[in-house]
Amino acid sequence: MDNEMRMEFDAISENEGFARVAVAAFITPLDPTLEEVADVKTAVSEAVTNAIIHGYADRQKDKPCKVELSCRLNGNALHIEIRDQGCGIEDVKKAMEPLYTTLPDENRSGMGFSFMEAFMDDLEVESAPGEGTLVRMKKKLGI
Ligand code: ATP
Ligand code: MG
Repeated sequence: MDNEMRMEFDAISENEGFARVAVAAFITPLDPTLEEVADVKTAVSEAVTNAIIHGYADRQKDKPCKVELSCRLNGNALHIEIRDQGCGIEDVKKAMEPLYTTLPDENRSGMGFSFMEAFMDDLEVESAPGEGTLVRMKKKLGI
C-alpha cells in the first residue's frame, strides 16, 4: 500500500506525544506488531524531542519554531522524515555516537540517535550549523 502524510507543529514538548501517536495511527492499516509500533514511536519521539530541546534551544521570539514530520508508506516500507529549522549540528558523526550529548547536566544520556538506529532499519542525518536538521528513517514492517 502507498500512502503519504505531512504535518507541521510547534516545537513544544506537548507535541511530542501527538507526533508519536500520529505516526502510530498512520501505520495501523498495515497491521504492525506491537513491537513494531513501539519501535517506530520511540524513534519518532527521540527525533522530535531532539528538534525541540536541541534544535530550538536558543529560541528567538521573531522566528517560528516548527517541526515538520512526514511519513510515506511504499508497500510495507515506512519512510519518516523529521525536520527542524533550528541551530543544526556541527559534527553529525560525533553527535550520533552512543553516549554523546551536549546537555549532560540536563539528564540527557546521549542515546537518542542510538535508539533511532537500533529501532529502525536505516537512519540518515543531514545537518549543518544554522541550517537546521533533517532526520530520515526507514523501517520495513511486517517481516
Ligand atoms: P538523549 O536523547 O539520550 O536524551 P541527547 O539528546 O543529548 O540525549 P542524542 O539524541 O543522541 O542525545 O543527540 C546527540 C546530540 O546531538 C545532542 O546532545 C545534540 O547536541 C545533537 N542534536 C541532536 N538532534 C539535534 C537537533 N535536531 N538539532 C541540534 N542538535 C541536535
Ligand atoms: Mg536526544
